[in-house]
Amino acid sequence: KCSPVPSAIPETRENVTLINWDTLINLDQGDPVMYESYWRKMGNRCDITFSGYQSLSYFANAKNLCWFLEPKLEEEIKRLHNVVGNAIVDDHYVVVGTGSSQLIQAALYALSPTDQPEPISVVSAAPFYSSYPEVTDFVRSGLYKWAGDARNFEKDGPYIEFITSPNNPDGVTREPVVNGDQGILIHDLAYYWPQYTAITSPAKYDVMLFTVSKCTGHAGSRIGWALVRDKEVARKMTKFMEISTIGVSKEAQLRAAKILGVISDSCLDPTLENFFEYSQSHMTKRWQKLREVVKGSDLFTLQKYPLQYCHFTRDFYESHPAFAWLMCKGSEDDLEKLLKGHKIQTRSGRKFGSDPKCVRISMLSRDEDFNIFLQRLMSIQGLTNGN
Ligand code: PMP
Repeated sequence: KCSPVPSAIPETRENVTLINWDTLINLDQGDPVMYESYWRKMGNRCDITFSGYQSLSYFANAKNLCWFLEPKLEEEIKRLHNVVGNAIVDDHYVVVGTGSSQLIQAALYALSPTDQPEPISVVSAAPFYSSYPEVTDFVRSGLYKWAGDARNFEKDGPYIEFITSPNNPDGVTREPVVNGDQGILIHDLAYYWPQYTAITSPAKYDVMLFTVSKCTGHAGSRIGWALVRDKEVARKMTKFMEISTIGVSKEAQLRAAKILGVISDSCLDPTLENFFEYSQSHMTKRWQKLREVVKGSDLFTLQKYPLQYCHFTRDFYESHPAFAWLMCKGSEDDLEKLLKGHKIQTRSGRKFGSDPKCVRISMLSRDEDFNIFLQRLMSIQGLTNGN
């Protein structure tokens, strides 16, 4: 059955098509295609070409500790952090990875002690990013082992704790939760950008992970970076990359450098449309619409966020996370299943070490999919309210 876009939802170029009610809307992955609309507006500003003779060498800068890091990418990463004010880059080494996913593995390798009889415990407070347990235990390393929810961790001795702030899946600003004094911390700051949350101060931790996937939306380029204070840790992370992939694609690095450069320019040059203002306004509108649908619902409730002062925009901002953490108030025990029955694919709270009464929903889909999602959510509520 097909139906035109409901009148409550404004028609944009993307959503004038007919909705096929049988199509499953996939909001399981955080695929950041929402950003296509901004980049389309930027036209050929980010175009980049390579001649056949370029980028042949494995090396990008043999003098750098991270010898495969393109100097231009390092420069643009540092410039963007300085423009946004979300991280201290001085006194930190930059290590580039094939997405921050590879850097998560590199950090685990580099931070694990090698002189222990047992693998070091790796924890994160639930609900935690569902990849942490998968990545930690995938190859059954003898160096590290997943030990579950950080709030229940009571073992003596060293441990590694992932702190994801703002958190995936629930968007909450986080601090370490384990009380031990032998914690080795990895700060995953994939979402510490102004479109998602207020930039309250520049982050300055020992190991910080970032990714273009969630900053600019270019997940397909597979570029992430780590800011690492300790030289030996940075060296070991670089070694991990050398053993697993002998570096990171130069084409991807140079494209990412170009895109990060355009974002910085857009913040400084008033003739350009500011990337963060554009995406903040997009996220704000989406969250307003979603909250409107869920408001007064007998069935659903959403995570709430405080208003915080953002040093980047010099204004107060309420978080508008990349994921909605939707909770079921009713008797339904399996929210993922309930929504799947209405052709909305989400990810169960169970996968984040949490309650199956919760699901994570991507807020970064195209407008068309987002609007269908809202429409379907409204219809579920209509059914349960007896309307
Ligand atoms: N960390 C967090 C918290 C994430 O949500 C993601 C992507 N979902 C990643 C790391 C990995 O991102 P990528 O490998 O695309 O850089």
